[in-house]
Amino acid sequence: MIQRPRGTLDILPENAVKRLFVENKIRDIFDNFNYQEIRTPSFEKTALFKRSIGEETDIVSKEMYSFNNDEYTLKPEMTAPVIRAYLENNLYAQSPVTKLYYISNMYRHENPQAGRYREFGQFGAEAIGSFDYTVDAEMISLSIRILNEFGINDIITKINTIGSIDERKSYIISLKEYLAKYYDDLSVDSKRRLETNPLRILDSKLDIEIEILKDAPILYDFLTPETKEHFTKVLDTLKDIGIKYEVDYKLVRGFDYYTSTTFEVVSNDLGAQNAVLGGGRYDALIEQLGGNPTPAIGFASGIERLIMILDKMNFNYPAADNLKIYFVTIGEEAKRFAVKTLYDLRKQNIKCDTDYLNRSVKAQMREANKFQSEYTMVVGENELKSGISKLKKMSDGNTTDIGIQNINNLISAIL
Ligand code: AMP
Repeated sequence: MIQRPRGTLDILPENAVKRLFVENKIRDIFDNFNYQEIRTPSFEKTALFKRSIGEETDIVSKEMYSFNNDEYTLKPEMTAPVIRAYLENNLYAQSPVTKLYYISNMYRHENPQAGRYREFGQFGAEAIGSFDYTVDAEMISLSIRILNEFGINDIITKINTIGSIDERKSYIISLKEYLAKYYDDLSVDSKRRLETNPLRILDSKLDIEIEILKDAPILYDFLTPETKEHFTKVLDTLKDIGIKYEVDYKLVRGFDYYTSTTFEVVSNDLGAQNAVLGGGRYDALIEQLGGNPTPAIGFASGIERLIMILDKMNFNYPAADNLKIYFVTIGEEAKRFAVKTLYDLRKQNIKCDTDYLNRSVKAQMREANKFQSEYTMVVGENELKSGISKLKKMSDGNTTDIGIQNINNLISAIL
């Protein structure tokens, strides 16, 4: 038997219903914050991700699904595609600030584990066109509002500012000097990153490196007064809104395009993969991708991880609508009558069904119960001859005689 590819999920009906509910709620909140939906292709030119996420990041260096001689790549994230679409379709000409959201699948060739898949759903937002600190505060509060709306309050929001690419240059020199002293104790990955992407070492999860980093120089100390002032205003605004946060000077995140404000929300209800969402400013990216210099900020969150938290909380999903009526049929003619009647009832938006296997009355009743049908109606030769059938209310077993020649009789009896 052929099985699904490693790291992918079959979303079976029970979970598809949950997911639809979650996605609809998320849409409502984005709409509430006046963000508009954008959808982009499942794959893009590989160069887009190389140029934006950065060649030395984990994603670009080892996790991309590329094909056609590396020309195309299944999207591993949405910020670059959204910005590509923003520029390609001149969205900046429509309004000076563009607020977009998306819900879409992403693809990363990672080592699968609980909460980490090779195909996974993300929702997120991008606000393009303003450097104002209020946009940072809105983006962070929007991401947290979504979690809160599901009753997820047991979270830690970490915030940092990582300055501009220029501001980071002198810090990186100092960090490299510091880490060079401990070179022999660094992991193979960190030794490599020391050359390619030293900032990434800051979020090491290895005890020995965490210890080494305790006395490392702090990026914040290297930032300009303007960057620090922006950060202070973001934090003050979050306080005004009532968002709890922790400043984490080591939070750098895994994309090269981030500048200034970065943030991440973690949950203790997740295992090793405890990040629910992450985001930040990327004020240089739009220019890098060929646009005019345009500041922007965004976040992305994983749908599976959100649902994992909800499952852990025993979240009460609204029950799906049950069947209104199930037709139990005996014989060919009754079956034909049922199919036609179902068609007419469904046109009136009534959820109904019947048996397709010519089963016994008992088996059909069992099926009706399984679907928790509100009513059943048995139709056989006698009923067709007399034109009258018994409509049974399943909750109390009471029956009513209904003339079945005119469908309106039935509709008014069951509604
Ligand atoms: P990132 O785009 O890496 O900043 O991730 C943003 C969010 O997407 C994370 O906080 C997770 O919730 C989710 N996420 C990232 N990678 C995966 C993955 N491989 N599987 C499931 N969810 C993921």
